[in-house]
Amino acid sequence: MNEISVIDSAVDQRPGALQIDPDTGRLLYNGRRMLLLSACSLGALRKELIETLGYRQARRVLKRFGFAAGRDDAHNLPINLQDMAGADPSNYGFFLHALDGLCRFEAIEEKCEVDLTRGVFHIEAYWASSFEAEQHVKHFGQAKEPVCWILTGYATGHSTELLGKKTLVKEVECRGMGHPRCRIVADFDASFSEEFDAERQDYHEIRFSDLVAELNVKLQHQQAELERKEKTISQLQARLGNRPGFEGMIGDSPAFRRALRMAEQVASVDSTVLILGESGTGKDLLARAIHECSRRADRPFVAVNCSALPETLQEAELFGYARGAFTGATRNFKGLFESAHGGTLFLDEIGDLSLSAQAKILRALQSGEIKRIGESKIRKVDVRIIAATHQDLEQMVQERRFREDLYYRLNVVSITLPPLRERDNDLLLLAEAFVRKFSDKWGKSISGLSCVTKRLLLEYPWPGNVRELENAMERAVILAEGPVIEPKDLPEKIIGYGQQGVGLQKNGSLQHQRESLSGIVDERERIARALAMSKGKRELAAALLDCSRTTLWRKMKAYGML
Ligand code: ZN
Repeated sequence: MNEISVIDSAVDQRPGALQIDPDTGRLLYNGRRMLLLSACSLGALRKELIETLGYRQARRVLKRFGFAAGRDDAHNLPINLQDMAGADPSNYGFFLHALDGLCRFEAIEEKCEVDLTRGVFHIEAYWASSFEAEQHVKHFGQAKEPVCWILTGYATGHSTELLGKKTLVKEVECRGMGHPRCRIVADFDASFSEEFDAERQDYHEIRFSDLVAELNVKLQHQQAELERKEKTISQLQARLGNRPGFEGMIGDSPAFRRALRMAEQVASVDSTVLILGESGTGKDLLARAIHECSRRADRPFVAVNCSALPETLQEAELFGYARGAFTGATRNFKGLFESAHGGTLFLDEIGDLSLSAQAKILRALQSGEIKRIGESKIRKVDVRIIAATHQDLEQMVQERRFREDLYYRLNVVSITLPPLRERDNDLLLLAEAFVRKFSDKWGKSISGLSCVTKRLLLEYPWPGNVRELENAMERAVILAEGPVIEPKDLPEKIIGYGQQGVGLQKNGSLQHQRESLSGIVDERERIARALAMSKGKRELAAALLDCSRTTLWRKMKAYGML
């Protein structure tokens, strides 16, 4: 197949048009200096431009480059336009790119109409084997839009110059997009509607100030978007902050995560839940979290601390009473079960309930019905019970202080919240979260904890758990004068714990322990001893060894101690 059509014959009509000047080494075409560049070199240029200027600007540069080349070539073409006017459509490519080699031109005859005397110029055609599409796919893979930028630019410049009137060549299909060949539409610029404005703009001069202005607009949009997102985040944070002590649910230690995961799983199934754990471990927070993740989330969450109710009032509070039911019952009273109807009733410290109240709770759980004291009317209640205790209920069952049947009824799922001293990694995480929370609350700018403070916090056993830590951090934030929490800002008992030698191992202060360690020559032995002293808490062990946790971990790994 002859890849070079009418253009080649035009060249052939001028013998000797393409020549090399032996004196200067110049390649001349009709007396104009030409360059022979490989397709690959233009491909490399395209890659460079896209990577430095970005896709859009590279497209503009290459289109404008093509336009200049096409216009220049057409300007130097000694032809009679009238000869071309009646030409066969297969020669229409001449209007677009007299010099071939860029691609092969195939007019779609039935779509073409050229009659220059009537001012009609409309060409639709295929470009086969575009070098540009090849190069683009080679460097960037398949494109989402046409990529023969030099070619369309060239054709636009060429036809504009030749016809003496603005034209536009638009690629509608492209090999670079996976089409079998490129397909173009060429017409006078005025024939194209406004939707081709983007195409037109590609030929506008690229001015640095325009680029900057464009980037500025983009930047403003992004800034607005960022502000919007920041607002959403602060709204979400505020909402979380409205749930008192929500920060207490922060944690990364395995035992804590296990508890959270169980809570998540049990939230959706509506069963009774028993939460076990020492005081201050956040049992109330977990109960609320379960409620909020359950299908009852938009119904009431009613919490009661049973240990705060005198035994004589327990039943009245829980189930309500009728006016006159007992001395002092001056009005009808709706109990907590009824208040929680449709939602969740959280019975904290359930171990402190009287046996009689326990029996009534069991009955309510079994039948879904309650009676107010002094009433015979039966009331239906739909309540999910979440109970919690720091006591050993099993032991209480054996001692007949807690009903066995209620215990089994409650203990369908039990979740144990670990004490803070067993949540090694969580302590500093929580402490820092509390510092942030209280810095906001008290309008202070405290960035964190000093190193010594961290060590003191890690040494202290936290019998009051997360609640104690939270209180200590609020106090510290209030007292702090510098940018970080210093030991002097901590409660006496925490400072004293380290200093008085009643530290974790009850055999000396941190300094004392360090000194005893430094006497051990064998490093593996020294690490083992430090780990024993800190009961496996690596953060503290690292502090005792005066190295970072990472270093400790690396050494433990090297000694096969992991
Ligand atoms: Zn193409």
